[in-house]
Amino acid sequence: MSTCDEHQCRPGCGACCIAPSISTPTPGHPQGKAAGLRCAHLNEDLLCSLFGQPERPAACAAFHFDTSVCGTERQEALQRIHWLEEATQI
Ligand code: SF4
Ligand code: SF4
Repeated sequence: MSTCDEHQCRPGCGACCIAPSISTPTPGHPQGKAAGLRCAHLNEDLLCSLFGQPERPAACAAFHFDTSVCGTERQEALQRIHWLEEATQI
């Protein structure tokens, strides 16, 4: 039987702050962030240093844990987000 824990963001992951490109400019990425580049705002605890601030991109706030994207471990999430990024490029 599933538990609520299966639907929560995995501590120590940070894959969604590395794998995708982010077009919104931020203080650390004035031109936006390229895919595969670790976000300058991902701190050493793998948490967002812009959390709750207006500079945090809306796309970041809109991204939520989803098992189909996040998988079961960080490497899986990095790969899946990379595939999604490639599949959605125009
Ligand atoms: S990829 Fe998923 S599990 Fe990893 S930090 Fe982002 S939301 Fe959390
Ligand atoms: S701004 Fe924050 S949530 Fe968005 S990619 Fe960077 S560290 Fe992650």
